[in-house]
Amino acid sequence: MNRHTSELARLDVSDTAGVFAARQLGRGLAATLALEQQDQIRVATALSEISRSAVTAGRTAVITFGIDDAEMLLTVTMDGEPPADGIAAAARLMDQVAADGHIVRMTKRRPPGVRPDPGLIREQLAAVQPRSALDELRRQNQDLITALEDLKQQKDQLLVLNAELQETNSGVMALYSELSDELEQTNRGVVALYAELDEKSERLRAASESKDRFWANVSHELRTPLNSIIGLTRLLAEPAPDGTALDPERLYQVELIKNSGGTLLVLVNDLLDVAKAESGQLHMDPAQVDLPALFGRLRGLARPMAEGKPVEVIVSADGGPDTPVTILTDEVALTSILRNLLSNGIKYTDRGEVRLSTRVTGPRLEIIVADTGIGIPAGLHDHVFEEFYQVPGVHRGGTGLGLPYARRLARILGGDLTLTSEPDAGTTVVLDLPLSTPAVGTVLLADDDAAFRGVLKGLLEGLADRVLEAGDGREALALVDGNPVDLVLTDMRMPGMDGTALLARLPAQVPAIVVTGADVPPPSRASGVLRKDELTRERLEFALRGVIRGEP
Ligand code: ADP
Repeated sequence: MNRHTSELARLDVSDTAGVFAARQLGRGLAATLALEQQDQIRVATALSEISRSAVTAGRTAVITFGIDDAEMLLTVTMDGEPPADGIAAAARLMDQVAADGHIVRMTKRRPPGVRPDPGLIREQLAAVQPRSALDELRRQNQDLITALEDLKQQKDQLLVLNAELQETNSGVMALYSELSDELEQTNRGVVALYAELDEKSERLRAASESKDRFWANVSHELRTPLNSIIGLTRLLAEPAPDGTALDPERLYQVELIKNSGGTLLVLVNDLLDVAKAESGQLHMDPAQVDLPALFGRLRGLARPMAEGKPVEVIVSADGGPDTPVTILTDEVALTSILRNLLSNGIKYTDRGEVRLSTRVTGPRLEIIVADTGIGIPAGLHDHVFEEFYQVPGVHRGGTGLGLPYARRLARILGGDLTLTSEPDAGTTVVLDLPLSTPAVGTVLLADDDAAFRGVLKGLLEGLADRVLEAGDGREALALVDGNPVDLVLTDMRMPGMDGTALLARLPAQVPAIVVTGADVPPPSRASGVLRKDELTRERLEFALRGVIRGEP
């Protein structure tokens, strides 16, 4: 480091008086340079110690006092080797002490920016007159007292700090115990809340089930008398066998009763459909459905609905070269969904067109019904799929059950129904359906009839990656134990362990479909039931789709 050093003073030390002088001058200069009081004492003591060791060893020393920008620099030059005890003492008091031959260099950091006044330094040098040992003792005692006071102050501060720390600690402890109390209470609350939630959802499930049962029963009970009413009004409206007819006023009233009865019957039928779909009682009969033929029938069905309106109904089977001719699904359900969508489109469109078209996207077929009708406000697109929901201010007959029912059917078919719409521009509803069935990994067949296992194995060709066979429940369980089985197809009646026992012991994560010759009610553990005498590849494939989707 190349710093500018300037010398402030120089002192010769050869006896005890010199030692005192070194001490005094060191302290005075340190004060002039605005060092802290403790550092002043340190500098003074370091000089006094190094001088004392020199004098004790019979040496003489020359001390120069200097400064640079950052430090106070003291150089002690002796006429022989500097004694080690002096250097050691100084080393503990100064920032840096380096001995080089006969020279000891010591530094102490000083506050920046303090310019020593040359006049003051001269005064200090003059003040370093030889003093009595008694004076110096008093001086040193004073230093000692100051040091002790400093120490006491620090100790007091430490005590205050300690007390504060203790207080803070006990505060923290109190807070902590309060927090953990609160946490415990919150936890208890959460546990209670969960218990309540479980109970509520159980009640909700039960309520939903009894609602479905209620609707199913009520619809059924209502239909019979309704049909009688409608039949009787028809009879009343016709001329009697003796030729007498109702007067026009009566006839008008009877027609009103007949029409109201008809409306009521539609509502009851819709209700029955929805209730059945919800309780999973809808019987699906999957087969390869011929799409052009289906669309032809829909065209014939929908056109009369638009009669008397400037609305064109277009049912186009041409969705491009990828469009399949057939699709594996339930024809009744598919017809019902599309009839519903077409009927809505025509009902809510005053002019323009209602168009049914198709599009293939990857492994799925989209059937799109788009109209140019009144549309549905943006916030209500989800609501129209809720039972009984009808857009406020729009009354065109209907029950508000069409869309929820159609969506339910779509999901049973492994698809879904989505709607986009803009008021006064029109509505587009898309039904998407699966075109293929992803292969299930390993299927285990449990049946005592080896020939039927062979039939099943043949039907599973291309639908399963691997087929394992077992002659009864016990063998099946052993195979499930040692293999990753993705699905079990089991007979009910088997010697040894039968299907019921097997289902009860099967790990919960392994889905099972019952394939049985007997007309048994499906065990609740089973994901599906197939009748042996009606088994087709289509029915099997459709049942596998349900298992892959995780639906019964
Ligand atoms: P609804 O028997 O009343 O037609 P839906 O469940 O089929 O019952 O439809 C619910 C409501 O959604 C309807 O009342 C109607 O307000 C609205 N909606 C359904 N389809 C359309 C459509 N294509 N255009 C405009 N609004 C529609």
